[in-house]
Amino acid sequence: MKQFDVVIVGGGIHGAGVLQAAAAAGHSALLIERLGLASGTSSRSSKLIHGGLRYLESGQFALVRESLRERAIHLRIAAELVELKPFFLPVYRDTRRRPWQLKLGLWMYALLGGFDASTRFGTVPRREWSSLDGLETRDLDAVIRYHDAQTDDALLTRAVVQSALSLGAEIAMPASFTGATLTGDGVTVAYARDGAAVECTARVLVNAAGPWAPHVAGLIRPDIPIPDVDLVQGTHIVLPLAVTAGIYYVESPTDGRAVFVMPWEGATLIGTTETPYRGDPDKVHPLPQEEEYLLAVARHYFPALSALTRDDITGRFAGLRVLPAATQAAFDRSRETIFTSDRDLRPRVLGIYGGKLTGWRAAAAHVMERISPSLPKSLRRAATDQLILRRPL
Ligand SMILES: Cc1cc2nc3c(=O)[nH]c(=O)nc-3n(C[C@H](O)[C@H](O)[C@H](O)COP(=O)(O)OP(=O)(O)OC[C@H]3O[C@@H](n4cnc5c(N)ncnc54)[C@H](O)[C@@H]3O)c2cc1C
Repeated sequence: MKQFDVVIVGGGIHGAGVLQAAAAAGHSALLIERLGLASGTSSRSSKLIHGGLRYLESGQFALVRESLRERAIHLRIAAELVELKPFFLPVYRDTRRRPWQLKLGLWMYALLGGFDASTRFGTVPRREWSSLDGLETRDLDAVIRYHDAQTDDALLTRAVVQSALSLGAEIAMPASFTGATLTGDGVTVAYARDGAAVECTARVLVNAAGPWAPHVAGLIRPDIPIPDVDLVQGTHIVLPLAVTAGIYYVESPTDGRAVFVMPWEGATLIGTTETPYRGDPDKVHPLPQEEEYLLAVARHYFPALSALTRDDITGRFAGLRVLPAATQAAFDRSRETIFTSDRDLRPRVLGIYGGKLTGWRAAAAHVMERISPSLPKSLRRAATDQLILRRPL
């Protein structure tokens, strides 16, 4: 039976990150992915590497600071994959957040980002409004510009795995995790590959199965604690007319929630929604009412899109957020990653629930810190904030 220091279930951004971090720390590591890299949530996000301006309103300052730090690291190590973009906040007569509130928020954002050049913000002069992709100017009071970054989430995931493989990590794909048994100082891991049952051992099993993580945790014997989480669906649609000037961060005319209107592969990507989800994560798909909700945003802010209907949608996808179970609206819930383990000292299983695309590297570093007492001594090969991520071939 093959032996690994770390075995990871799930080839999304978190699994990729832990694979890379384990290999960089000098450990043997195997990633088990059922379908394909980034086939789950990590290809269905809003594709932003951002501090999360709106999290300031809910007081999640540590998350914003960490995310802005990670954004700066991405711009350095993943320049082929992550691009700083102008973001526009249009403020109309009836917009809930007023210019002074937004500027106060952006000032805090800049403070948490260490006032580096990318945190500069200002007002777009009225004479330049005509360059804003036909943005509705009726009752428009101001447009505030700041910067955040955009990526291709699936490519980024593949780039991180590519980096891990170059450090000696291994991958089993397509291969489905089928169960694990905890032993005195590790785990026996079972998975199915090419119709055959395979077993290996690990000092630590990392459950990075995204919305499938509770199911994966349920396959481990003896039982381990599974955190109480909710799944919340988020849908994006693609419309054929392109916005090019930057990313528009607008309030939904339906309920005031923040929605992004983004340039994407020569078209426009609009998202996202927040729909409570129960059931099989494999079956998530965009709902007609979510598409109408997003179309209403497009029609409201871009008169050139006012005649578009659901028939004009050229692309659509839905993903699942994993959020701490609560009664409050998904929009207001903590976006901090939840880490759980079978025991505090020398864990044999560590689960990653929730989190952000932006925070994958920090999450992986945290995982390594938590599991290192369970791992044999090793010789570090690299530091993940120095490893350059290349666009995968
Ligand atoms: C709508 C939406 C928009 C978002 N936008 C942003 C954003 O703009 N910026 C940001 O920073 N974050 C964003 N996020 C958050 C971010 O996308 C997620 O936190 C991240 O992609 C989660 O990655 P993951 O690796 O945990 O899970 P996933 O990407 O879902 O990966 C889990 C993997 O596990 C595999 N798997 C499941 N079961 C098994 C099994 N039995 N055996 C083997 N493999 C298995 C699946 O096939 C899948 O590939 C968004 C999330 C959503 C839902």
